Amino acid sequence: MTLPTAEIRTRIEVIRRRIAVACERAGRDPQEVTLMAVTKTVPPEAIKAAGAAGIVVFGENRVQEAAAKLSPAFLQEVGDTAQWHLIGHLQTNKVKKALELFQVIQSVDSLRLAETLQRQAAVLPKTIEVFLEINTSGEAAKFGVPPEQAVALAQAVAALPNLQLTGLMTIGALTDNPDTIRRGFRQLRDLRAEITAMNLSGVKLRHLSMGMTDDFELAIAEGSTMVRMGRAIFGDRG
Ligand SMILES: *Cc1c(COP(=O)(O)O)cnc(C)c1O
Repeated sequence: MTLPTAEIRTRIEVIRRRIAVACERAGRDPQEVTLMAVTKTVPPEAIKAAGAAGIVVFGENRVQEAAAKLSPAFLQEVGDTAQWHLIGHLQTNKVKKALELFQVIQSVDSLRLAETLQRQAAVLPKTIEVFLEINTSGEAAKFGVPPEQAVALAQAVAALPNLQLTGLMTIGALTDNPDTIRRGFRQLRDLRAEITAMNLSGVKLRHLSMGMTDDFELAIAEGSTMVRMGRAIFGDRG
């Protein structure tokens, strides 16, 4: 199912207003919050509609799907200011392809993956911006490094010259309880403060990537700087 271009534009306007209201309630500047369009399973026409409505940051979950969609011609159509972020789990055997496709990898969740990224990025050579994915909910079905290992991973990644650590990412707990969801988001914010206080060389944690269609207002209340929105923009998947 693909929504018409005008409908996608309207939905983005509605989300921007909701972001502004959530920011106002939290005493924050809406400019601090980037709206990412999550385009997994979304066809090219709808992605272009989001680009035309002013979206510049796009998120994909799977390297293979992104490789199929992001042809040079398509990238040109979406516009050369567009940024592509990998937000799904990255297997080490897909690192090389991921480095070709994405400007930011938000799902770094192990030293092994970070070291593989370093090795391949050095070959190209290029510097890749990365976020650490933290499993703040503790749910077994979720990827991400456990919060108690986040500081050590940040220290290790800071020492890798071709990786530039600029943010933390998490997925909200799967529950209807807003307090539980907020606790996870707050934990990500606290981890950013803890890592920032360490003054790791070359590390500047500009981003807290948290909040999706069902919980982005809670995430903004807890300091999110990037909300990752799929269904709210493009409708239900599949
Ligand atoms: C799918 C996905 C999103 C978007 O989810 P919606 O509920 O559709 O807004 C955000 N982040 C990640 C990591 C995802 O996999």
